[in-house]
Amino acid sequence: MEVHHAVEDELLARRDELGIASVLPHPDHLAEMVVRRIDEIGAGTRILTLAPRSEADRLRQHAPGQYLEVWIPNAAWLSRAYSIGNSPRADDSIELQIRKVEGGRLSTWAFGRVAVGDVVTVRGPLGNFTIRSPEGRPIVFVARGTGFAPIKALLEQQVELFPTREMVLFWGATSSEDFYELDHLGELVARAPGLSATLVARRFLPGFEAPAGVATALGRVSDAVAGSGLDLAGFDAYVAGPRLTVADCITALSGRGVDRERIFADSYGT
Ligand SMILES: Cc1cc2nc3c(=O)[nH]c(=O)nc-3n(C[C@H](O)[C@H](O)[C@H](O)COP(=O)(O)OP(=O)(O)OC[C@H]3O[C@@H](n4cnc5c(N)ncnc54)[C@H](O)[C@@H]3O)c2cc1C
Repeated sequence: MEVHHAVEDELLARRDELGIASVLPHPDHLAEMVVRRIDEIGAGTRILTLAPRSEADRLRQHAPGQYLEVWIPNAAWLSRAYSIGNSPRADDSIELQIRKVEGGRLSTWAFGRVAVGDVVTVRGPLGNFTIRSPEGRPIVFVARGTGFAPIKALLEQQVELFPTREMVLFWGATSSEDFYELDHLGELVARAPGLSATLVARRFLPGFEAPAGVATALGRVSDAVAGSGLDLAGFDAYVAGPRLTVADCITALSGRGVDRERIFADSYGT
């Protein structure tokens, strides 16, 4: 099942249906967030850490896997969607993992003029790429590139709640230099005895070291899933990344036994 992003109608419908208008966030909730940190990570990827400007700007009911619509300063006509790359934190700060797109309008700001202290407007949280797997059901996560953002948020949540749940992660990239936050991934693997992780890249630079307990595989992430030899019957799958990769991963997952109805996907771009 592919997650669609025009969720506003659905959210409103659910609010009416469930009669809990005061609990579910209104999809038009606008908040102002301040850029607190800018981290250069991997090749051509940045993490912007944003914090709510005031109490009223705290995100309401952020579920891991959701995304925001983001407006950059002084460009009210320009908004883009970015996944929230973390599970909820006590201070309600969030991270956006932004990949550089040559000539991209928002990405030109994120890799150029952006400065700590800038205020961005966000709408959300939006989207329903959230965990819908019953407790005890094993999960396979597959990410490509910054598709790791929502997958990492889901992983953080699951490691916190169910560290012994059987979970498998494949994270694909073009080159090993595109991976980021590997120390954090190593910590998650160390904390969750049920989690096994594989980094998949078309090339690994000399000297690249995966964190302890994390495997590596050469090639495309969908091929790594297809050739893993794993029996994934009975697993739920969460897949995020570029549209074509996601389509290939869905085929690979279903070839390994995952029921297509239990594959949840979040895709964008090509
Ligand atoms: C739900 C959702 C979540 C998203 N989450 C993330 C995220 O976590 N991190 C992230 O980096 N992006 C994410 N995106 C993509 C993001 O919204 C923008 O599309 C992307 O950052 C490009 O915006 P831009 O303004 O820089 O480029 P634009 O000015 O919109 O595009 C400039 C040119 O680049 C091309 N282009 C646009 N996007 C891409 C791409 N991804 N790869 C190659 N060429 C491209 C366009 O076709 C165009 O020709 C998400 C999109 C959706 C719908």
